[in-house]
Amino acid sequence: MADFHCGYVAGRYRDGALSDTWTDVTRCAERTFLAYVARCGCGWLGDPQPANPDGYYTCQHELISTHLSSCAGGTLAGLHPTVARRHARGS
Ligand SMILES: [Zn+2]
Repeated sequence: MADFHCGYVAGRYRDGALSDTWTDVTRCAERTFLAYVARCGCGWLGDPQPANPDGYYTCQHELISTHLSSCAGGTLAGLHPTVARRHARGS
């Protein structure tokens, strides 16, 4: 297990697999994913959320407030660039 933090929002595919760091789940076709799950390079996983914009936001919030704030000093340094951009825009 890697011990660096690279958090992002993954999508859970119908076969149960999770998307990788480079997949921007918000750009995938509707119903590609059963759920969104906040995920981190260190192996941390958040709770599954609905695969919609609200679910994405919930994952992002969970990742930052629950995970990164407790183990990465409360900074956004551990956030994947696509998530950090989205977070900065406040969406
Ligand atoms: Zn982590």
